[in-house]
Amino acid sequence: MARAFTIPSFYRSPIVSSLKRSRAEEDPRKKDLSPTIIEHPGVRFKLARHFGFCFGVENAIETAFRALEENPGKRIFLLSEMIHNPAVNRDLEERGVRFLMTTDGTPIVPLSEITNDDIVIIPAFGTTVSMLEKLEGIRTYDATCPFVEKVWTRARQLGTQGYTIIIHGKHYHEETKATFSRAALAGPSVIVRDRSEAERLAKYIKGEGGNFFEEFKGKYSKMFDPTKDLKKIGVVNQTTMLAHETIEIAEYFKELVSSLGYEFADTRDTLCYATEENQSAVHEMVKQGGDLAIVVGGYNSSNTTHLAKICSKYLPTYHIKDDSEIISSSEIRHLKGQNVEVTLGWLPANKPVEVLISAGASSPDSLVDSVIQRVAEIVT
Ligand code: SF4
Repeated sequence: MARAFTIPSFYRSPIVSSLKRSRAEEDPRKKDLSPTIIEHPGVRFKLARHFGFCFGVENAIETAFRALEENPGKRIFLLSEMIHNPAVNRDLEERGVRFLMTTDGTPIVPLSEITNDDIVIIPAFGTTVSMLEKLEGIRTYDATCPFVEKVWTRARQLGTQGYTIIIHGKHYHEETKATFSRAALAGPSVIVRDRSEAERLAKYIKGEGGNFFEEFKGKYSKMFDPTKDLKKIGVVNQTTMLAHETIEIAEYFKELVSSLGYEFADTRDTLCYATEENQSAVHEMVKQGGDLAIVVGGYNSSNTTHLAKICSKYLPTYHIKDDSEIISSSEIRHLKGQNVEVTLGWLPANKPVEVLISAGASSPDSLVDSVIQRVAEIVT
């Protein structure tokens, strides 16, 4: 999959992209996960070895720009956000691309208004089977990431082998919706968000009863029967979940199911390479210590949220969408839980202050550059 994409140069950056290039040249097999150090008066930056645009995101951006170039004068729509980065989506909107739906599926432009003369771009997360049916006859540019398609293939295989497919993911996320729609065609399917939801599902595997249909409302396939559909199970996951959580959930189900004499499909997780690389690099970066971490990415970006969660276990962490969130050396606006809040006194006075930096798979290098420059500017 080592393919170079043509993406606009303004997404690249003088600092970060060239550092990434030199690290890649020195270590093409990606064995060294140690962070890259940038020294600046008053501040030492430690940049995670891997972060930012992944294969699927670059593919999606290249596809969107190709759609624009090949169809001058036509109306071009994106099903929903191209990727979960507001700067990238805003940029596409400024070029005339319009969104059909919000990320939660609320229509912005009714599908009935789309004509055969229009173009629709399917984003990196893919879309559901029913949406594809609705788009029949409309010219589409499909930017679905091949790593997402791999999960669909795995889910279909499990279903055709008679397994119930448990999807570890966020039921409201576009990718999980797309995976669920395919899994449900292949076999009984149910979505679990995290370990605690996995434990709730375990009650039904053990036959302890409860109201499955209430507890898993909106997360199971039609005709799901918890009394018979949980005796032969397999797990796939949203590509951007927390690696350790996914492994823990699969192990949990495996042990439980084996102890009951039921069947478990023993397969590797379906996390994508970018999720694994970025999370491993963040683990290595936090091991090296620092005063605080900044993680750059959209507030609805699942993979960015997970990177911030890893960092926050070790040091004060600020998940920011871009440099404009760094209000001053004493105030920063960032995602905290479900809300965007301002924290005071975020930057310690010691010099050099050590700032760890990472970014989600949908964050352009140019945004990370601006964050580094903003911190450097306020420290000195
Ligand atoms: S994060 Fe992974 S699955 Fe998602 S677009 Fe990037 S490479 Fe594809």
